[in-house]
Amino acid sequence: MIRPLIAGNWKMNGTSAMLPVVQEVVTGLSARADGADCLICPPATLLERAAKVAQASALAIGAQDCHAKEAGAHTGDLSAEMIADAGGRYVIVGHSERRADHFESSEIVANKAAAAKRAGITPIICVGETLEEREAGRTLEIISDQLAESIPDAVCDGSFVVAYEPVWAIGTGKVATTEQVDEVHNAIRDKLNQRFADAGASVRILYGGSMKPDNAAGLLSLQNVNGGLIGGASLKAADFLAIYDAGI
Ligand code: PGA
Repeated sequence: MIRPLIAGNWKMNGTSAMLPVVQEVVTGLSARADGADCLICPPATLLERAAKVAQASALAIGAQDCHAKEAGAHTGDLSAEMIADAGGRYVIVGHSERRADHFESSEIVANKAAAAKRAGITPIICVGETLEEREAGRTLEIISDQLAESIPDAVCDGSFVVAYEPVWAIGTGKVATTEQVDEVHNAIRDKLNQRFADAGASVRILYGGSMKPDNAAGLLSLQNVNGGLIGGASLKAADFLAIYDAGI
Protein backbone atom coordinates (compact mmCIF):
# COMPACT_ATOMS: atom_id res chain seq x y z
CA MET A 1 0.00 0.00 0.00
CA ILE A 2 1.43 3.38 -1.02
CA ARG A 3 1.07 6.12 1.57
CA PRO A 4 -1.21 8.77 0.03
CA LEU A 5 -0.26 12.41 -0.45
CA ILE A 6 -2.97 15.03 -0.09
CA ALA A 7 -1.54 18.18 -1.65
CA GLY A 8 -3.05 21.66 -1.86
CA ASN A 9 -2.14 24.04 -4.67
CA TRP A 10 -3.16 27.55 -3.70
CA LYS A 11 -2.13 28.95 -7.10
CA MET A 12 -2.06 32.78 -7.12
CA ASN A 13 -4.26 33.05 -4.03
CA GLY A 14 -3.35 34.16 -0.56
CA THR A 15 -1.79 37.02 1.32
CA SER A 16 -0.73 36.92 4.96
CA ALA A 17 -4.46 36.91 5.81
CA MET A 18 -4.49 33.26 4.64
CA LEU A 19 -1.82 32.06 7.10
CA PRO A 20 -4.50 31.08 9.66
CA VAL A 21 -5.67 28.46 7.12
CA VAL A 22 -2.22 26.84 7.38
CA GLN A 23 -2.54 26.91 11.16
CA GLU A 24 -6.03 25.36 11.00
CA VAL A 25 -4.73 22.52 8.85
CA VAL A 26 -1.80 21.97 11.24
CA THR A 27 -4.21 21.84 14.19
CA GLY A 28 -6.64 19.63 12.27
CA LEU A 29 -3.92 17.14 11.38
CA SER A 30 -2.72 16.94 14.98
CA ALA A 31 -6.19 15.74 15.98
CA ARG A 32 -6.39 13.10 13.22
CA ALA A 33 -4.98 9.67 12.49
CA ASP A 34 -1.65 9.78 10.66
CA GLY A 35 -2.75 8.04 7.47
CA ALA A 36 -1.41 10.25 4.69
CA ASP A 37 1.21 12.88 3.95
CA CYS A 38 -0.25 16.35 3.70
CA LEU A 39 1.15 19.33 1.81
CA ILE A 40 0.19 22.91 1.03
CA CYS A 41 1.85 24.85 -1.79
CA PRO A 42 1.10 28.53 -1.13
CA PRO A 43 2.35 31.35 -3.35
CA ALA A 44 6.09 32.00 -3.01
CA THR A 45 5.54 35.12 -0.91
CA LEU A 46 4.04 32.97 1.86
CA LEU A 47 6.40 30.01 1.57
CA GLU A 48 8.74 30.84 4.42
CA ARG A 49 6.02 32.05 6.79
CA ALA A 50 3.83 29.03 6.04
CA ALA A 51 6.82 26.76 6.66
CA LYS A 52 7.32 28.42 10.06
CA VAL A 53 3.65 27.90 10.96
CA ALA A 54 3.91 24.24 9.90
CA GLN A 55 7.31 23.62 11.50
CA ALA A 56 7.52 20.30 13.38
CA SER A 57 3.96 19.44 12.33
CA ALA A 58 2.51 16.78 10.01
CA LEU A 59 1.99 19.41 7.30
CA ALA A 60 4.68 19.92 4.66
CA ILE A 61 5.00 23.15 2.69
CA GLY A 62 6.01 23.34 -0.96
CA ALA A 63 6.25 25.69 -3.92
CA GLN A 64 4.34 25.89 -7.20
CA ASP A 65 7.28 26.20 -9.59
CA CYS A 66 11.06 26.53 -9.68
CA HIS A 67 13.76 27.47 -12.15
CA ALA A 68 16.08 24.77 -13.47
CA LYS A 69 19.27 26.65 -12.59
CA GLU A 70 20.70 27.01 -9.10
CA ALA A 71 21.36 30.76 -9.32
CA GLY A 72 22.09 33.50 -11.82
CA ALA A 73 20.61 36.14 -14.08
CA HIS A 74 16.96 34.99 -14.16
CA THR A 75 14.89 37.94 -13.02
CA GLY A 76 11.77 36.98 -11.14
CA ASP A 77 12.60 33.29 -10.86
CA LEU A 78 13.25 31.13 -7.82
CA SER A 79 15.65 28.20 -7.70
CA ALA A 80 14.85 24.88 -6.06
CA GLU A 81 17.67 25.63 -3.61
CA MET A 82 15.90 28.86 -2.57
CA ILE A 83 12.67 26.92 -2.03
CA ALA A 84 14.50 24.36 0.13
CA ASP A 85 16.17 27.20 2.05
CA ALA A 86 12.77 28.78 2.74
CA GLY A 87 11.49 25.50 4.20
CA GLY A 88 9.83 24.01 1.11
CA ARG A 89 9.98 20.23 0.77
CA TYR A 90 8.13 19.76 -2.50
CA VAL A 91 7.72 21.72 -5.72
CA ILE A 92 5.00 21.39 -8.36
CA VAL A 93 6.50 21.41 -11.87
CA GLY A 94 4.77 21.42 -15.24
CA HIS A 95 1.32 22.41 -14.03
CA SER A 96 -0.86 22.94 -17.11
CA GLU A 97 -1.31 26.61 -16.17
CA ARG A 98 2.49 27.05 -16.35
CA ARG A 99 2.71 25.02 -19.54
CA ALA A 100 0.05 27.29 -21.09
CA ASP A 101 0.82 30.71 -19.53
CA HIS A 102 4.62 30.41 -19.63
CA PHE A 103 5.05 28.14 -22.66
CA GLU A 104 6.83 25.49 -20.61
CA SER A 105 7.75 22.45 -22.68
CA SER A 106 8.12 18.98 -21.19
CA GLU A 107 11.88 19.37 -21.61
CA ILE A 108 11.83 22.48 -19.41
CA VAL A 109 9.66 20.61 -16.91
CA ALA A 110 12.17 17.74 -16.79
CA ASN A 111 14.99 20.21 -16.09
CA LYS A 112 12.97 21.74 -13.26
CA ALA A 113 12.26 18.30 -11.78
CA ALA A 114 15.98 17.49 -11.95
CA ALA A 115 16.69 20.80 -10.18
CA ALA A 116 14.32 19.81 -7.38
CA LYS A 117 16.17 16.52 -6.97
CA ARG A 118 19.50 18.41 -6.92
CA ALA A 119 18.16 20.64 -4.11
CA GLY A 120 16.85 17.69 -2.12
CA ILE A 121 13.15 18.43 -2.53
CA THR A 122 10.47 16.30 -4.19
CA PRO A 123 9.08 17.36 -7.58
CA ILE A 124 5.39 16.83 -8.30
CA ILE A 125 5.42 16.42 -12.08
CA CYS A 126 2.08 17.29 -13.70
CA VAL A 127 0.67 15.80 -16.88
CA GLY A 128 -2.75 16.04 -18.46
CA GLU A 129 -4.61 16.18 -21.75
CA THR A 130 -6.81 18.99 -23.08
CA LEU A 131 -10.46 18.43 -23.95
CA GLU A 132 -9.58 18.55 -27.65
CA GLU A 133 -6.97 15.82 -27.18
CA ARG A 134 -9.39 13.66 -25.19
CA GLU A 135 -12.14 14.04 -27.78
CA ALA A 136 -9.67 13.06 -30.49
CA GLY A 137 -8.97 9.82 -28.58
CA ARG A 138 -5.38 10.83 -27.91
CA THR A 139 -5.39 10.90 -24.08
CA LEU A 140 -3.09 7.94 -23.41
CA GLU A 141 -0.69 8.93 -26.18
CA ILE A 142 -0.42 12.51 -24.81
CA ILE A 143 0.07 11.30 -21.24
CA SER A 144 2.66 8.76 -22.32
CA ASP A 145 4.64 11.40 -24.25
CA GLN A 146 4.43 13.92 -21.40
CA LEU A 147 5.66 11.32 -18.91
CA ALA A 148 8.53 10.22 -21.12
CA GLU A 149 9.66 13.81 -21.71
CA SER A 150 8.89 15.47 -18.35
CA ILE A 151 10.45 12.93 -15.96
CA PRO A 152 14.24 13.24 -15.92
CA ASP A 153 16.59 10.28 -15.43
CA ALA A 154 17.85 12.11 -12.34
CA VAL A 155 14.82 10.80 -10.41
CA CYS A 156 15.21 7.16 -11.47
CA ASP A 157 15.27 6.22 -7.76
CA GLY A 158 11.56 7.07 -7.63
CA SER A 159 11.99 10.31 -5.66
CA PHE A 160 9.16 12.12 -7.42
CA VAL A 161 5.38 12.33 -7.54
CA VAL A 162 3.21 12.37 -10.67
CA ALA A 163 -0.01 14.37 -10.82
CA TYR A 164 -2.56 13.53 -13.49
CA GLU A 165 -4.63 16.65 -14.10
CA PRO A 166 -6.95 16.58 -17.10
CA VAL A 167 -6.83 20.21 -18.23
CA TRP A 168 -10.59 20.27 -18.86
CA ALA A 169 -11.30 19.30 -15.24
CA ILE A 170 -9.14 21.97 -13.57
CA GLY A 171 -11.14 24.69 -11.87
CA THR A 172 -14.18 23.84 -13.97
CA GLY A 173 -16.14 21.74 -11.51
CA LYS A 174 -16.03 18.95 -14.14
CA VAL A 175 -14.47 15.87 -12.62
CA ALA A 176 -13.18 13.00 -14.69
CA THR A 177 -15.28 9.88 -14.14
CA THR A 178 -13.80 7.10 -12.03
CA GLU A 179 -13.48 5.03 -15.23
CA GLN A 180 -11.51 7.79 -16.94
CA VAL A 181 -9.27 8.32 -13.91
CA ASP A 182 -8.77 4.59 -13.44
CA GLU A 183 -7.76 4.11 -17.07
CA VAL A 184 -5.20 6.92 -17.08
CA HIS A 185 -3.74 6.16 -13.64
CA ASN A 186 -3.31 2.48 -14.54
CA ALA A 187 -1.59 3.51 -17.77
CA ILE A 188 0.70 5.87 -15.84
CA ARG A 189 1.58 3.07 -13.40
CA ASP A 190 2.46 0.77 -16.31
CA LYS A 191 4.75 3.42 -17.79
CA LEU A 192 6.46 4.03 -14.44
CA ASN A 193 6.96 0.30 -13.91
CA GLN A 194 8.38 -0.11 -17.39
CA ARG A 195 10.85 2.74 -17.03
CA PHE A 196 11.80 2.56 -13.35
CA ALA A 197 10.98 -1.04 -12.32
CA ASP A 198 10.53 -1.35 -8.53
CA ALA A 199 11.18 2.37 -7.99
CA GLY A 200 8.30 3.14 -10.35
CA ALA A 201 5.91 0.88 -8.45
CA SER A 202 6.17 3.07 -5.34
CA VAL A 203 5.81 6.48 -7.02
CA ARG A 204 2.66 8.30 -5.93
CA ILE A 205 0.21 9.21 -8.68
CA LEU A 206 -2.11 12.05 -7.62
CA TYR A 207 -5.37 13.01 -9.30
CA GLY A 208 -6.09 16.71 -9.75
CA GLY A 209 -9.06 18.50 -11.26
CA SER A 210 -12.04 19.66 -9.20
CA MET A 211 -11.37 17.20 -6.36
CA LYS A 212 -13.78 18.15 -3.57
CA PRO A 213 -14.94 16.67 -0.25
CA ASP A 214 -17.93 15.05 -1.97
CA ASN A 215 -16.04 13.26 -4.73
CA ALA A 216 -12.68 12.60 -3.03
CA ALA A 217 -13.53 9.24 -1.44
CA GLY A 218 -14.52 7.66 -4.77
CA LEU A 219 -11.41 8.92 -6.55
CA LEU A 220 -9.03 8.08 -3.71
CA SER A 221 -10.36 4.52 -3.46
CA LEU A 222 -8.98 3.65 -6.91
CA GLN A 223 -5.93 1.41 -6.75
CA ASN A 224 -3.53 3.71 -8.56
CA VAL A 225 -4.82 7.00 -7.18
CA ASN A 226 -2.37 7.68 -4.37
CA GLY A 227 -3.58 11.11 -3.38
CA GLY A 228 -4.83 14.37 -4.79
CA LEU A 229 -3.57 17.71 -6.04
CA ILE A 230 -6.29 20.06 -4.94
CA GLY A 231 -6.73 23.65 -6.08
CA GLY A 232 -9.94 25.44 -5.13
CA ALA A 233 -10.91 23.11 -2.28
CA SER A 234 -7.51 23.54 -0.59
CA LEU A 235 -8.23 27.20 0.19
CA LYS A 236 -10.60 26.30 3.03
CA ALA A 237 -9.15 24.23 5.87
CA ALA A 238 -12.41 22.37 6.50
CA ASP A 239 -12.71 21.25 2.86
CA PHE A 240 -9.04 20.33 2.61
CA LEU A 241 -9.17 18.33 5.84
CA ALA A 242 -12.35 16.58 4.65
CA ILE A 243 -10.42 15.45 1.57
CA TYR A 244 -7.57 14.31 3.84
CA ASP A 245 -10.13 12.30 5.83
CA ALA A 246 -11.33 10.68 2.60
CA GLY A 247 -7.75 9.68 1.81
CA ILE A 248 -6.83 7.96 5.05
P1 PGA B 1 -8.84 22.54 -8.94
O1 PGA B 1 -7.30 22.68 -9.35
O2 PGA B 1 -8.90 21.57 -7.78
O3 PGA B 1 -9.25 23.93 -8.53
O4 PGA B 1 -9.55 22.02 -10.13
C1 PGA B 1 -6.45 21.58 -9.36
C2 PGA B 1 -5.06 22.00 -9.80
O5 PGA B 1 -4.94 22.69 -10.83
O6 PGA B 1 -4.04 21.68 -9.13
